[in-house]
Amino acid sequence: MTARILDGTKIRDEIFAELKHEIGRLAHDGIRPGLAAVLVGENPASQLYVKSKIAACEQLGLASWMHAPPASITTEQMLRLVETLNVDNAVDGILIQLPLPPHVDTKRVLEAVHPAKDVDGFHPVNLGRLVSGRPGLVACTPAGCMEILRRNGIQIEGANVVVLGRSDIVGKPMALLLMHANATVTICHSKTRDLADIVRRADIVVAAMGKAGYVQADWIRPGAAVIDVGTNKVTDTKEAESLLRNFPARLQKFREKGSALIGDVHPDAINTAGALTPVPGGVGPMTITMLMSNTVKAARLRRGKAPTNTTTVQSTAGAR
Ligand code: NAP
Repeated sequence: MTARILDGTKIRDEIFAELKHEIGRLAHDGIRPGLAAVLVGENPASQLYVKSKIAACEQLGLASWMHAPPASITTEQMLRLVETLNVDNAVDGILIQLPLPPHVDTKRVLEAVHPAKDVDGFHPVNLGRLVSGRPGLVACTPAGCMEILRRNGIQIEGANVVVLGRSDIVGKPMALLLMHANATVTICHSKTRDLADIVRRADIVVAAMGKAGYVQADWIRPGAAVIDVGTNKVTDTKEAESLLRNFPARLQKFREKGSALIGDVHPDAINTAGALTPVPGGVGPMTITMLMSNTVKAARLRRGKAPTNTTTVQSTAGAR
C-alpha cells in the first residue's frame, strides 16, 4: 500500500483563496487587516521566515510592517515596542519572531502582546481559552494540522490519536484541538514507555518531536493517517543513506545539496500509512497559512464582526 499524500501546498492555496474573499469583504467595510512583525538581530533563518510571512501578507493584500531592532535591544525596549504595537489600531496581529537573544526575557515579551493581537496563539489567555473550548487565537502549526485532517475528510471524532511531543507551541495545543474535536488522545513525550506499542494503536499519529525519522514504518498501523510536523535538516551522509535507502531520487538530491529535510516519521512509512503529510510540503506551508488566517480573524474579532463561514472560523470551531 502507498499512502495518500496530504498535500499542504494544495490546502494553503484553497485557504488563501478563501481568505482573499474574506479580505475583500472586510475592505468593503473599510477594514484592511495588518500584521506587524518584529525581527530582532540578524539570524538568517529568522530573516527568511519573516520575509516569507511578509510576502504572504503582500500576496493576500494585508497590510504589514517589519520592525527590525538590533540584537542589543533590552527587554524593557522590547516591551515598549510591543506596547506601541498594542495601541496602534491599524495593527491587528503582532508577531515576535523567535528565538529572541538570550538576554531578552522571551516570556515577558510574549505575555506583553495583547491577547487580541496574539496571532501566534502563544499568550496564556489564548491558551486558557483553548483549554476551556472558547473562541480565541490558536497556535498556527496545530491549527494547520487540524485543517489538513478536516479538509482531507479524515475522521477525527472517536479516533484514537497519538500525539508525539508536548511542547507549548505544537504538542499541547494539538492534543487539545483533537480532544475538543472528540478524538481520544494520548500524549507521548521523552519519558513515555513502550512508544512503539502506543503508536501502533493509533488511527491518527501526529509526530512533533524534532527527531529525524524516529517513528519507524512498522509502528504505523496499516491505513493510519500520519501528520508529520517534524522538520529536521539531516547533513550526515550515513544517516541520510539509512533514512532514504528506498528513495534513490531523494538520496541523489541529498548528495548534490549536502542536506535533506526529514520529518519525525521514517520516510518508509509511506508504505504502511493510509495517508501521510510529506516533508517538505505537508505541515510546513500550513503554519504561515494559519498565521494569515489568524490575522484576518483578529481583525474581525477586534471589531466585533460576526464569524463568517471560512477557515478563520474552522480553526476555532475545533475548540467548540
Ligand atoms: P520541542 O519543543 O523540542 O518538543 C519536542 C517534544 O518531543 C518534547 O515534548 C519531547 O519530550 C518530545 N520528545 C523528544 N524526544 C522524544 C522521544 N524519543 N520520544 C517521545 N517524545 C520525545 O519541539 P517543537 O517546537 O514542539 O517542534 C517539534 C518538531 O516540529 C521540530 O522538528 C520542529 O522543527 C517542528 N516544527 C515544525 C513546524 C512547521 O511549520 N512544520 C512548526 C513548529 C515545529 P519532553 O517534553 O519529555 O522533552
